[in-house]
Amino acid sequence: MTSPDFSAGAAWQRGEFVPIADASIAMTDWGFLRSDAAYDVVTVWDGAFFRLDAHLDRFFASCRRFRLDAGKSRDEIVGIITHCVRLAGLRSSYVEMICTRGQPPWGSRDPRQAVNRFHAFAVPYVWIANEEQRARGLNVVMSGVRRIPSASVDPRAKNYHWNDMTMALFGALDAGGDTVLLTDGAGGVVEGPGFNVFAVTGGRLVTPAEGVLEGVTRRTVIEMAQSLGLPVELRALAAEELRGADEAFLSSSGGGVLPVTRVDGHELGNGRVGEVTARLRDLYWEWHRDPRYSTPIAYGGEVS
Ligand code: PLP
Repeated sequence: MTSPDFSAGAAWQRGEFVPIADASIAMTDWGFLRSDAAYDVVTVWDGAFFRLDAHLDRFFASCRRFRLDAGKSRDEIVGIITHCVRLAGLRSSYVEMICTRGQPPWGSRDPRQAVNRFHAFAVPYVWIANEEQRARGLNVVMSGVRRIPSASVDPRAKNYHWNDMTMALFGALDAGGDTVLLTDGAGGVVEGPGFNVFAVTGGRLVTPAEGVLEGVTRRTVIEMAQSLGLPVELRALAAEELRGADEAFLSSSGGGVLPVTRVDGHELGNGRVGEVTARLRDLYWEWHRDPRYSTPIAYGGEVS
């Protein structure tokens, strides 16, 4: 018998580790049928998890908000995701932990009777923007699509209610943009598919306070700005204010601080990657070597 090939990634499902291509969930799981799930993504960079505790805290908080129980302790989750990374032999990885609703007994539509399921996987690191886009800065389209209101689906619980994001992204790509920002229906910018947003004007950072996932990268940016003595305001960010900003950037575990140099095709500031943005981007990667935030992985043997 040949041994399984984990080189493209590894997953944990139904109590066992499988190659990512073989990973699946039950078709009748409400996670699939109703997007009824909470999840989190933590990254591994240079052989260490970055801000693992913050991601685990948020995962458990998301589950609580959606009345989900992953049925796993913190240590068990760390054990599972570490083993996924180790099996795949990845030094840089995108690691997802998921809790789906599962399903209630046949005939019941009572979510309280569902047996929730935990799943996880590790695949190679995922970037929200490619190298060329990161070097020149992104052209972000302001979408007319409104983000699902917070009163309907709590955006602080990391979730798969992404149809608004996906349709907005189609529109932005069709219009020649690189990615998209959604609004709150009252002229405020909220977030986009996989990221938070910051505007920088006169050395002050502004990021939306409400209607967003409280990104771990957003938090890292706020802490980095504090360490550099840059003021940060958490408040509503009007689309017009973003258009008139000196600089802007996106923040995401999928690439850290990602410069924005155009909004709807119009240049921000001098049209080049901003100075504050570049400082924060570089510091973001430096902080990956800080033992306060990094959890090294014991691979045991050679890894790629
Ligand atoms: N907002 C949304 C909707 C997201 O899906 C994500 C990340 O995937 C973010 C913001 C950024 O969060 P983080 O910095 O924790 O990756």
